[in-house]
Amino acid sequence: SVVVVGSVNLDHVVRAPRIPGPGETILGTDVAEHPGGKGANQAVGAGRSGAETVFVGALGDDPAAARLLSELRGAGVETRHRTVDVPTGTAWITVGDDGENVIIVVPGANMSITELTESEREIVGSARVLLMQQEIPESAMVDAAVASGGLVLLNAAPTREVHPALLALVDVLIVNEHEAADLNGAPAPAAELVSGLLERVPAVVLTLGAEGSLIAVRGAEPVAVPAHRVQAVDTTGAGDAFCGALAAELDRTAPHGITGPGPLGDLLTRLVEAARFATSVSALAVQRPGAASAIPARDEVLKAYPA
Ligand code: ADP
Repeated sequence: SVVVVGSVNLDHVVRAPRIPGPGETILGTDVAEHPGGKGANQAVGAGRSGAETVFVGALGDDPAAARLLSELRGAGVETRHRTVDVPTGTAWITVGDDGENVIIVVPGANMSITELTESEREIVGSARVLLMQQEIPESAMVDAAVASGGLVLLNAAPTREVHPALLALVDVLIVNEHEAADLNGAPAPAAELVSGLLERVPAVVLTLGAEGSLIAVRGAEPVAVPAHRVQAVDTTGAGDAFCGALAAELDRTAPHGITGPGPLGDLLTRLVEAARFATSVSALAVQRPGAASAIPARDEVLKAYPA
C-alpha cells in the first residue's frame, strides 16, 4: 500500500476581471471551492491509480473537514486523520481573467502534526511506499521516514530547506526544475541538477513539465521519459498527479516481501516504468481543469495510453 503523510486544504477560488491592488475593492464574478493541499491531491492520485492508499493528516472540526474527507474517500483513499482544535487548512486564491493569480495559504490544522502518534507510525511501517511533501512540520516527516519499512518518496514542494536528517532517509526525491535548482543552490542544466542531487539521495525524479522527466539512480545513466504531446488547459496539480501515480506504480511493482530500496539497478527499472505511467496520468490531468478533480482513474489511463 501507499501511505501519504501530508497536508489537506480547502481551496477557495475567486474569479475577478483582474487582481485588485492594495486598498482596492472590486467585484468578482464567481467563487468555487475545491479540495487541495499537496498531501491530499497526491493521495487522490495514488488512490485513483489503483493503489490501496492511506492518508495521514490533520483537519479541524469544521464543515471544510467533512467536505475534504468525503472527497478523499470518494477517490478510494482511506483516511487515518486527526481532528484538532485548529481550523482545517485553507487556500484563498484570486484568479484574474488574464490567468494571473494571487494565493494566500492558511495552513491551520496542517501545522499541528509535529510528531506522529504510535498508531500513525504503525500505519507508515506497514506500507510499501511512503509519500511526503513539504506542507507539514518537518519533525513529523522525519518520524514518518524513520518508521517506514518501505520506499521513502519525498516531493520537495513547496521549496524549503530540507534538513539533512530527513534527506538521509529519502530513497527517491521528486522535484521540478525550480525545486531542484533551489536544493542545488543554483539553476543548472537538468543533467547537472540530477547529478548534484544524487550526491545526497540514491534516486531522483526531475519533472520538466511538457518536456517530461529525467529519472536517475546513483551509478547509472539517467533515463529521459518524454511527456505526451497534449493540449494543456490547466497544469495546476500536474506534479501532484504525477507523484501520486508514481507512488502507486512503485507499490504495484514492488517485489513481494522486499521493502527498502533493494538493489539500485532494479530501482531504476521500476522507477522508469512508474514514471511512464505517471506521465500518462498527468497528460490526462492537464487536459482537464482543476487539480485533484482532474486526476483520471487507472483504467482511463490504460485506455488512453496502452502500456
Ligand atoms: P509541477 O506541477 O510540480 O511543476 P511539472 O510541470 O514538471 O510539475 O509536471 C509534472 C509532469 O506532468 C511532467 O513530468 C509531465 O509528464 C506532465 N506534464 C506537465 N505539463 C505537461 C504538458 N503541458 N503536457 C504534457 N504533460 C505535461
